[in-house]
Amino acid sequence: MIRITDILDQASTYLPPTDVALIQKAYVFSAAAHAGQIRLSGEPYLSHPLEVSNILVDLRLDAATIVAGLLHDTVEDTEASVPQIIELFGPEVGAIVEGVTKISKMNFESKEQAQAENIRKMILAMADDIRVILVKLADRLHNISTLEFQKEYKQRAIAQETLGIYAPLANRLGLYRVKVQLENYGIKYLKPDVYAQISEGINRYQDQGQAYIDKVSTMIQDVLLENDIHGRVKGRIKHVYSIYHKMKQRGLTLDQIFDMIAFRVIVTNLRECYTALGLVHSLWKPVPGKFKDYISMPKANMYQSLHSTVIGPEGERIEIQIRTEEMHQLAENGVAAHWSYKEHGSKKAQEGDRFSWLRQILDWQGDLKDSRDFMSTLSMDLFQDEVYVFTPRGQVKELPEGATPVDFAYTIHTEVGNRCAGAKVNGRIVPLNTALKNGDTVEIITDASRNPSRDWLQFVKSGKARSRIKHWIGTEERTRSLALAKELLEKEGRRMGINVGKAIKNGDFDPVVKEFSFRQIDDLFSAVGHGRITARQVLRKLLPKEEQKHEERKVAGTGAAQTKPQDPDSISIKGVDGVLIRYAQCCNPLPGDPIIGYISRGLGVTVHTQDCPNVANMEIERLLDVSWGGEEESKALPARIKVVCKNQRGVLGMVSSLLAKEGINIDSGQFTSGVDGMSELDFVIEVKTTTQLYGIIEQLRKLDAVQEVTRSSAG
Ligand code: MN
Repeated sequence: MIRITDILDQASTYLPPTDVALIQKAYVFSAAAHAGQIRLSGEPYLSHPLEVSNILVDLRLDAATIVAGLLHDTVEDTEASVPQIIELFGPEVGAIVEGVTKISKMNFESKEQAQAENIRKMILAMADDIRVILVKLADRLHNISTLEFQKEYKQRAIAQETLGIYAPLANRLGLYRVKVQLENYGIKYLKPDVYAQISEGINRYQDQGQAYIDKVSTMIQDVLLENDIHGRVKGRIKHVYSIYHKMKQRGLTLDQIFDMIAFRVIVTNLRECYTALGLVHSLWKPVPGKFKDYISMPKANMYQSLHSTVIGPEGERIEIQIRTEEMHQLAENGVAAHWSYKEHGSKKAQEGDRFSWLRQILDWQGDLKDSRDFMSTLSMDLFQDEVYVFTPRGQVKELPEGATPVDFAYTIHTEVGNRCAGAKVNGRIVPLNTALKNGDTVEIITDASRNPSRDWLQFVKSGKARSRIKHWIGTEERTRSLALAKELLEKEGRRMGINVGKAIKNGDFDPVVKEFSFRQIDDLFSAVGHGRITARQVLRKLLPKEEQKHEERKVAGTGAAQTKPQDPDSISIKGVDGVLIRYAQCCNPLPGDPIIGYISRGLGVTVHTQDCPNVANMEIERLLDVSWGGEEESKALPARIKVVCKNQRGVLGMVSSLLAKEGINIDSGQFTSGVDGMSELDFVIEVKTTTQLYGIIEQLRKLDAVQEVTRSSAG
């Protein structure tokens, strides 16, 4: 087990004493927090954070990152809390630990492999500080290196996740050394037989290989020296995963892989890179199409190098990389090299760099095979404006920032969106307008009787959801407007002695359609349904000319407003309830109230209570007899109540808990306390019938502190 002194020693080679002291302090804290915990290996748990911070110190990262490495499991696995860590180690460390905890809590193991790229993006989007990912990668690296103590299914799951998500993430960030290790462990646990076969092949090849490496290295070294270039040449047998990848990619067996060895030439400056390349090419014939200049065209992760493949001294292919020392550091440690502690770099400059770096990584085009995901991550803006959430089956869905369960439902299927009745986020029921967060698991509750609501347009964020909702409302509104128009026309027809059904069959409306400049009969009816023209105006056209005049005179005298409850002639709003029927907000009519309809131009019918003071001022010919229709279960509607009560502690709570007990929603409430020791509570609550409303009012009146309760109207 690594000791803290080793880490402190290494840290003190590049960090100031105050930073080293902070690392020491974090060690003490972590040791106390994890005291008594044991890993599956039988080692004290503390060995894990120590190893993680050792990986980070190897990358020469700053103190905050190393401290976070020591503390990274304390919030999840011990009594420690983020505020406590912030207090002791500062907000920077707190934020990193919190970020790592957040990612660690999410289980990607069971998620579909095809979603890997989305998950990688999700992780990047969640970590607003790149150091969160560095700590997470170090954590994964140590965990996978001690995987032998886990159960086999767990080993496979972690290996799969590592190869699918974390190794590519390390690659994206240019952490080559970390990537190689993650890949090797990944293949070891995912395909143990392949791993054994390749390692064995490498071992067999070792002696022969070393002789070959020495021979080629010397040849390169000599030609460089002759030309006054003092470079380092290094030959190495490729790592297991990259050999496996080559075998798979080219369909070769191990024996057919000749280029298991790669050479690297490290020189002092950029000019020498190109000179060295020329010299190597003069020594051995280059393989056409294999030269790549990543110096003038760096990879997405800012990797720079010259790559070439040549036909070597024994007729075999040799891969050669040529780069400067600086490029080499970056190639090995990528973003970590960039993040590594710089004594002279000002804090401010680093802050700015953090994001420009990440932006570059995401912006720059990598390998050609990655061009598709390059396109999708092209702009950082695009990236930050997205939120990634899971379906219950582990698929990742990409949504615009602020997207709600309704947006999510429409990405699943239009029908799921249209029938969306409720949503669960991470197992809990939430309102449909809840903004989703990265990593949420969202489940939509559908109900075949539910329909999209116009209100959804207020909060949906995705274009898809918006257009589907509008489409549905458009279609639905037309259907409803036609149904309402037929009822209006039939009712008016009975009064005027016209059989509307017959008239439609006989084509009597055709000239009327023309006269009103509509294209077809449905357009005419739709206009009636929306109240743009009245049924009477339309039907009058069906009467003989002289009667039309007579009819006009009659209109003024008709008392259409005089309604008896349950008039058999009235229009049941049940049938056309919905987009074309609105409930007036002045009087909030409820089933049970005597009501009257008012045809508002272009808006369909607004339903008022018959005693609503506003009705007196309305145009008589646009008033309409309406009734509530059946007594079946109806939806809750808003009702206003005014409660006058004593100015006494807890009154508000008593009233609202009584409402809650009765299962009644409070839409809004206002509390006004008067000088006379009395207060007034104005509530808008949701009830289904007047019976329910008056029942509630009775119950509220029984409360001691309550003096009076009345149903009220707006304004
Ligand atoms: Mn850990």
